[in-house]
Amino acid sequence: MEFNVSRLLKEPVGAVRDYTVAEQVKLSDLEEECWVQGEVHLLRTERGVLAQCSFQTSARCFCSRCLAPYQQPLGFTLEEECFSTVGRVSGQGLPISDPDSFTLDEHHILYLDEAFRQYLLTSLPMQPLCREGCLGLCPRCGADRNRAACTCPQESQDLRWSSLRRLSALSATRSREA
Ligand SMILES: [Zn+2]
Ligand SMILES: [Zn+2]
Repeated sequence: MEFNVSRLLKEPVGAVRDYTVAEQVKLSDLEEECWVQGEVHLLRTERGVLAQCSFQTSARCFCSRCLAPYQQPLGFTLEEECFSTVGRVSGQGLPISDPDSFTLDEHHILYLDEAFRQYLLTSLPMQPLCREGCLGLCPRCGADRNRAACTCPQESQDLRWSSLRRLSALSATRSREA
């Protein structure tokens, strides 16, 4: 995702450009290409360009219950000011105060891929689920309970529950005694 903002930078602060994005994006060597759709709104600022975007995409995730890989649909907005590193008129280098800020390259090209990657990572679910109501793996035999029920006894699956049940039985007895 790259945009030549050379012309936009010649215009006064407040000038805008709008783009529609529909393309394959490869985020890193490790990741597969993902299909991205969205709107990109670019606003000329004092020091560069403010990008305001909304994206629809999907990412490969692993289900937190059954561990199966699946495509997670994602939608998020992105807002970042990208600073000019070269003066549009002077052609001289401009100082960048924050080393983590996004910049335009010396040919006034705005690359949104890195910002997109960072926003995508923060939009991933904390507990990814391959489907609503995924039954997960059996903690005893490891069988995928979405495929077939295993024959492990249901009752003693989780010892924490039985100790809780004992506790509540105990407090019930106590309140009756009081
Ligand atoms: Zn699952
Ligand atoms: Zn089992």
